[in-house]
Amino acid sequence: MDGWACAFCGSTDLKRTKEHLWPASLHRRTVALQDGIEQKFWLASLDKALSNEPIIRDVCAVCNNGELSKLDNYICTAFDHHFSIIRERGEEVILEYDYHLLKRWLLKISYNSARINKSDVPVFEPLIPYIMGQNMTAGRTVKLFLEMTYPSKVPPAEMQDGMPSIVRPAINRVGFFGYDASNGVNMLRAVHLRSFSFLLAFLPGSATAASVNAFVAEFLSRRPSARELRASTSRATLLCDGIDCWASITSGMMHRIEFK
Ligand SMILES: [Zn+2]
Repeated sequence: MDGWACAFCGSTDLKRTKEHLWPASLHRRTVALQDGIEQKFWLASLDKALSNEPIIRDVCAVCNNGELSKLDNYICTAFDHHFSIIRERGEEVILEYDYHLLKRWLLKISYNSARINKSDVPVFEPLIPYIMGQNMTAGRTVKLFLEMTYPSKVPPAEMQDGMPSIVRPAINRVGFFGYDASNGVNMLRAVHLRSFSFLLAFLPGSATAASVNAFVAEFLSRRPSARELRASTSRATLLCDGIDCWASITSGMMHRIEFK
């Protein structure tokens, strides 16, 4: 055999699956929502991104069709209720969520992206029991925030053929989010589901409760339109006033789609 091991359970003798980074069920939903002038611009990008996207081949059928598929089902339901709707700047947004299903799915897609891009894979290895639902305390060092991305005008100098003059957060992306923290956490993972930008901060396992609280307080004071999502709650209310869509797309946060 070719010596592969499942990235989630470590099994070496189960059937392998082949998947794109984005679950097909979620990708279908996103494509179905593209309309009007957005269609021409984004669909070309989506098709290009998907055809360029390496296939994940290191997940066994048991993991893929079991726990991981439960997480995909959760995110598709949440997509239908919440993420499908692009929010306008200043709009009040109420998100109802299952904290652990949401965070486990966000970690799963970030881990898959890390393996595809051979980037920060070791960050995720201690979190696998949490992603798989086997050890819920293993996820406690990951802090989860939500900030909303709003539609924005494209600067005239940066207009491209087929691009609408106002760009809306119509696609899903996964990447990084730079943040200069005083305690050394300086890179966050970002997963954007259209207007909803989920930010994951990875704190060291040795972090004290006081240092975790200090990080969260500092983060929220510097990003006042963000909210921390917590295990003890299932609902967040916030304003859509966080991230400028065009700035987000053109910054290093975004690696899903390249513009030429
Ligand atoms: Zn497996």
